[in-house]
Amino acid sequence: MSKAKVKNFKVKKKRINKKKLAFVIVVFFLFFSILIFGAFKLTQTIFSRLDINFNTKNKQVEMNTDVKSNNVEKIEQFDLDKEAGESNAKKYRVFIDPGHGGNDIGSKSFDNTIIEKDLVLDISKKVASYLLKQDDIEVILSRTEDTYLSLSERANMATSKNSDVLVSLHLNSHKDANEAFGIETYYLINDKNNSETFAKTMQKTLVSYVDTRDRGVKSNDFEVLRSVNMPAILIEIGFLSNPKEVKKLSDENYKNELAKGIAQGILTYLDENIKK
Ligand SMILES: [Zn+2]
Repeated sequence: MSKAKVKNFKVKKKRINKKKLAFVIVVFFLFFSILIFGAFKLTQTIFSRLDINFNTKNKQVEMNTDVKSNNVEKIEQFDLDKEAGESNAKKYRVFIDPGHGGNDIGSKSFDNTIIEKDLVLDISKKVASYLLKQDDIEVILSRTEDTYLSLSERANMATSKNSDVLVSLHLNSHKDANEAFGIETYYLINDKNNSETFAKTMQKTLVSYVDTRDRGVKSNDFEVLRSVNMPAILIEIGFLSNPKEVKKLSDENYKNELAKGIAQGILTYLDENIKK
């Protein structure tokens, strides 16, 4: 190739590319942007679908994760005074009431190793930890420490926080130490808030998680359930008068299973009965 020809070729190419090259670059850039944007949108849609399915269709408490009783940072971070509607997505609001507290210690185990107010607080925090694994659940505890609250204060708190459901946790006691054991769930006599259905769902779910006697669903005139306007139940999760049950209630695994069962009972009821 001669020098002249090379020179000519270069000059010719430059003249052509000035306009066309700019055009090609713009077209290529646009095409590439659309491609990237499309791929991003598609991925986003797929992930959000997966998320919705996970959250609403098949609520299951994670079975393999043990929540330790001191794993409460997440709960205590929950601000009791946080106003409703801070986030855009509507969440279920679960009110958990660990019975007793402060000077009101509740019942004691026959051997004084377990005090009702302490154990129900421990279990309540575990239940809250399991529930908070769900994105669409908010949890409010009537107390996170060993403090006294009257029954009407608890009920008023549940109502003023617009809770979707109320679950109060207690422990039972019976004069016949060896005879009485197991779990029973209560709803208010003449209740008008669908609490009987909630109690039945809870009792059925909970006794499937732990090895104990199913004492069934009962109604009673408990003050904490009396003046609320949401489905409200009180669970007696065991008998502190029964030596075998006290032994179980001292076991961390048993307590975790209890808490999982209660959390699952709440989730199942919400899924089947409460529209967000
Ligand atoms: Zn009690």
